[in-house]
Amino acid sequence: MMNKTAFITGASAGIGEATAKILAENGYNIILAARRKERIDALCIELSAKYNVKAAACIFDVRLKEHVFEAIDALPEWCKEVDVLVNNAGLASGLSTLDKGNLDDWEQMIDTNVKGLLYVTRKIAPGMLSRGRGHIVNIASIAGKEVYANGNVYCSTKFAVDALNKGMRIEFSAAPVRVTGIYPGAVETEFSLVRFNGDEERAKKVYEGFDSLMAIDIADAILYAITRPAHVNINELIIMPTAQPIPGIIHRKID
Ligand code: NAP
Repeated sequence: MMNKTAFITGASAGIGEATAKILAENGYNIILAARRKERIDALCIELSAKYNVKAAACIFDVRLKEHVFEAIDALPEWCKEVDVLVNNAGLASGLSTLDKGNLDDWEQMIDTNVKGLLYVTRKIAPGMLSRGRGHIVNIASIAGKEVYANGNVYCSTKFAVDALNKGMRIEFSAAPVRVTGIYPGAVETEFSLVRFNGDEERAKKVYEGFDSLMAIDIADAILYAITRPAHVNINELIIMPTAQPIPGIIHRKID
């Protein structure tokens, strides 16, 4: 049986949850991180029983560095050697021009998408580097490659993830630790519900009239990237719905 361990942030929903499922199915032991403890605990119980792998819950708000470090330190012994880190926790909050932007939304996006990713990486990467093996997968976005109207701060956090993805690869590849950036277009998850602060009607409209990506499509790409031979590094994958050629265009079928 394979004895690899994957640490997945934002595993309580969407892309992170789908990634937890597909990695467990493929024999990875999993460490699942997020704030919503009940969801993470339930997923750990479900996946460890179903796929006969080890699973540990790591409950933290990724914005709080002490909590991140303490929660990782408190993990059981088998969790100490992480082979794959999936930096996925993130969000968009709000959608408005910069002059009307909500400062709390800005802080939340910058603190989660950029600083949170840095805290987890700062904690996990040194072990990978000292062991001379590991793979870090950073979930950016098409918003980290192209800016769209009213996406200003969210896009800038994902451009930062793009820069960190490239920087990590320069610094870590000698170890060697592999680094992959994933850049999805519209994926139907809780993302829009969070962006629109729980407004279900508005969130539903985002995915109407076209086939959006599903979380499993991104999880499948992550599995592909981490299962290439050791000499192969998938630097970047930009994955879009066929109906969304660029962030600002979605071909919708209206009945
Ligand atoms: P989602 O369904 O809303 O899931 C987001 C995950 O991030 C949840 O597990 C959430 O867990 C976690 N998270 C958010 N804030 C956190 C915090 N402060 N501390 C710890 N965990 C936190 O959204 P998703 O679509 O799967 O998003 C996953 C990643 O993909 C994000 O980085 C997002 O920017 C990116 N992305 C999404 C899309 C899309 O269209 N959906 C497109 C491109 C990129 P808790 O709430 O339980 O903490």
